[in-house]
Amino acid sequence: MEDPFDSERASLPRHMIENSMFEEEPDVVDLAKDSTAFPEFPALDPDEVVYEPRSSRLLVRGLGENDLDDEEEDYESSARLLGMSFMNRSSARSPSASPYIRQAPPRSCSRPSARMLVVGVFILVLVTSMAMVLYFLPGCTFTKAGCPKANSSTPMELVYPNSTNGELFPWNELRLPASVRPVNYDLSLTPNLTSMTFTGRTIINMIIQHDTKRIVLHSSELNIIKATFQVGEGKSVEVKVLEYKPWQQIAVSFPEDLKAGQVCVLTLDYAANLSHTYDGLYNSSYNDKTGAKRVLAATQFEPQAARKAFPCFDEPAFKATFLVRITREPEYITLSNMPKAKTTTLPSGLLEDEFEQTSVNMSTYLVAFIVANFTSVTRNVSKTLVSVYSVPEKKEHTHYALDTASRLLQFYNTLFEIDYPLRKLDLVAIPDFLAGAMENWGLITFRETSLLVRNQSSSLDKQLIANVVAHELAHQWFGNLVTMRWWNDLWLNEGFATYWQYTSLMTEFPQLYLDNVFLEERFKAMAKDSLNSSHPVSVSAQVTTPEQVSEMFDSITYEKGASLLLMLSSTLPDGQFRKGLINYLNKYNGSNTVTDDLWNSITQAQVLPQQESVSDMMRTWTLQKGFPLVTVSRKGGEVTLTQEPFLLSADNATYTSSLWHIPVTYVNDSCSSAPSCRQMFTLRNKTATLKVSESVKWLKLNYMNTGFYIVHYGDEGWAALIDALKTDVNTLTPHDRASLIHNIFSLSRLGHVSFRQVLSLLDYTTNETETAPLTEALSQLSSVYRLLDKRQELGLVARMKAYILGHFGPLMDSQDWGEQESVSSQELRSALLEMACSLGRQNCTEQATALYEQWTNSNQTNRIPGDLQRVVFSVAALSDAGWLSLLDTYRHTIDDSEKRKILQALASTQDPRHIVWILSEGLEGGIIHTQELPLVISTVSDRFAGHLFVWDFVKESWDRIIEKFPVGSYPIQSIIKSTTSQFSTQTHLEEVQGFFSRLKERGSQMCSVQEALETIRLNQHWMDRNLATLRQWL
Ligand SMILES: [Zn+2]
Repeated sequence: MEDPFDSERASLPRHMIENSMFEEEPDVVDLAKDSTAFPEFPALDPDEVVYEPRSSRLLVRGLGENDLDDEEEDYESSARLLGMSFMNRSSARSPSASPYIRQAPPRSCSRPSARMLVVGVFILVLVTSMAMVLYFLPGCTFTKAGCPKANSSTPMELVYPNSTNGELFPWNELRLPASVRPVNYDLSLTPNLTSMTFTGRTIINMIIQHDTKRIVLHSSELNIIKATFQVGEGKSVEVKVLEYKPWQQIAVSFPEDLKAGQVCVLTLDYAANLSHTYDGLYNSSYNDKTGAKRVLAATQFEPQAARKAFPCFDEPAFKATFLVRITREPEYITLSNMPKAKTTTLPSGLLEDEFEQTSVNMSTYLVAFIVANFTSVTRNVSKTLVSVYSVPEKKEHTHYALDTASRLLQFYNTLFEIDYPLRKLDLVAIPDFLAGAMENWGLITFRETSLLVRNQSSSLDKQLIANVVAHELAHQWFGNLVTMRWWNDLWLNEGFATYWQYTSLMTEFPQLYLDNVFLEERFKAMAKDSLNSSHPVSVSAQVTTPEQVSEMFDSITYEKGASLLLMLSSTLPDGQFRKGLINYLNKYNGSNTVTDDLWNSITQAQVLPQQESVSDMMRTWTLQKGFPLVTVSRKGGEVTLTQEPFLLSADNATYTSSLWHIPVTYVNDSCSSAPSCRQMFTLRNKTATLKVSESVKWLKLNYMNTGFYIVHYGDEGWAALIDALKTDVNTLTPHDRASLIHNIFSLSRLGHVSFRQVLSLLDYTTNETETAPLTEALSQLSSVYRLLDKRQELGLVARMKAYILGHFGPLMDSQDWGEQESVSSQELRSALLEMACSLGRQNCTEQATALYEQWTNSNQTNRIPGDLQRVVFSVAALSDAGWLSLLDTYRHTIDDSEKRKILQALASTQDPRHIVWILSEGLEGGIIHTQELPLVISTVSDRFAGHLFVWDFVKESWDRIIEKFPVGSYPIQSIIKSTTSQFSTQTHLEEVQGFFSRLKERGSQMCSVQEALETIRLNQHWMDRNLATLRQWL
């Protein structure tokens, strides 16, 4: 396996890679040393690590005791730039107590001040060069033996951190050495659900890869009681375990080398508390139908929490087999990745369940186990027993998931031509679970709202369940069978699972109509990727700290990843994409990959001789952030296409001259909506021309919006398209119409078209009836409306409201409120009515109130159609009595999709007392589980009353929030985004900036903070530029 980049690229700091790799200017000096890339097996002996001259005062300190002061930090940065690789400082940010708080920004997002950085780097290089000249004057060289200077009485030595017991810890990097490879784990766990503690024994069989005197592995919050070690057939001896807590590592040192090829066994006995957050082995609870509290224990290990349940080599490339035993009380059941092999009654009366050893090699983050009192429904699908587990009360809500999972399992087995390798597949709904779901091999865990649904629920509710199930099942191949080598390529897992969740359902469950959802997700990914704080899909290897790893779970990794796969699959000749993927799965079955492995596999499946190499094309999309804007200009039959980065910027700076290989597709007025009309052209250079017949009236690029780029048609081009739509809406497909609406709003943000032109396109929508273009128009208008509302531009707010109702009012009023079959109509109806009721349109609020009354008067037996529940509940929650009665229903209902909509209604209240209550309740985790806090916060933020309040709440509760949700994690990204993205004033900008900069290691370095600040600046800029136009034209 090779690196994702050639070695020269890989060694550049991230921002330099982004800014230089596709530019004509010479590359930035390649001085940085990257020692964090995962070494392959076999690799360089990792024991050959960095040595440092003792003469620097920086280096005489142990790690972990003090912060660096500014001067030292500068020294460190410049040293790194000069390739001195001081202890790989870039990876020195620690999980909890960072020894280097004021680090350079995380490399997985770039800062808006790219220029400042370049200037800064230049100055640093200059200053350090001078320092180095002084240093080298006596003729010192860096050697293992030390610098032969006059003061060389202090020889050079490795600088290691201090272990908990004061001894030196024998390793000084966040990534583990590759000198040892685990082969099998034998895990025995005894959770105690009364004392909320557990004990465990982990026996790790391993092979020494290179001679070494140490074994280093991960362990977090585990109290190691005893450790023994055995080499080959030798005697097992007790060994001392050293721990370095900030990096969650433990180590055993040996006086003599362990030799390459030796087989060893490390046995560790330990005790710990069940986690009170959502990762590791954590406790969860729910109230059963009698109101009694029931407890359970479940796991969530991705990305780096397996180490909280058992000591392990907790990196995705250390794959091994696992044998799991769990001791339980008779009233519970246990589940793990594999089928249960046997149950033994222990002398204590407890039962020990032993599971079969995994038949596959797997990464630690995919191990899972559960102790709970769940019940299940099951079905055989070819050689696999599929089961859906839930709390007993909700057994009736598991059937839809079972049907869907069974069908999709068969579908994927056929599609990928590799059968799912395990004999069982469990899908389990956990009452308190943070992520939507987790793809643990053979034991997929879900939130209840992502798995459970009533038979009679609406198809829109079922669409959500199918979506999550399809995603997690795809992971059993993309992620579990073939895993990214390191988190920087997480998109190989998540981009694929996201791509398959839509495409598999579009094929297998066309009635769920996922096309529109996928289109919206692509638009969302573009919004994030048009900011300077975005990052490439496949980032350089500098993703090392837990925060950086957590931040990889974002919409670039998921949705942009999926969008790029869609673009590729829809432009390759028939069959090549699938054939390439089957090659990829077969070649890397059971192992780990980097992005280039994927492109090479698809390239090898090439069917046409003159085809462009997939690697050449796709590297331009995955190695650089952002996406292109294609501008079309036409003179008669000659069409010129020009590409430039689509970068929203508040200071009009141009940052890069990146180029993409863009598979441009287009249709024209003579043939425009059928797939066969599509023509293709690859734009590789800055500009290119193509010929069309002079009689062509207009061109529409990016057919069906399957490409990840935005198109500007110029004034004439837009005018011709607008004309065409006014004449006949159906001249373009609904997705093409949505794509035009999306593109013109984006161009107005960029300042390339005026808001007047936007409104001119929207004029055609009075004849629009399709879901995709209408929901896109509503969502764009609503974001403008909300910004104006938050800014209290009351005059414009009123005019915007009049505009929206003027345009869409008749369509809103014509919606019927009964059960509706088609998912697409449900999507449209709910979007229209939510907008109508939130703008207070009388027809809407009256209908909603009437439906709510029917529902309450019938003792909730007279169902409200699922897609209308949120709007009906939100209207009801406006009154005090309605709000209280909904809260009462929330406490008692066991219908999870209904419950979620009630919660959104409760959180959309305008009553300050209710807002205070719901936020603090969400944080406490009482009636409202803490897992719902991000949803509560984002809903509260949407409305004017909650908007200002919620930001204060987040500031005041920050420390408690990050206790529950790790810094950098998706919930934290969501909380930051929803509370700040509607600010548009200088005061708020300074306020947000000030708050986060004071946080230091509690979150100041997050990419989402950069994104938030950039968004506020852009809002501010947009207001400055557009308020006058809006006043004139709206
Ligand atoms: Zn996933």
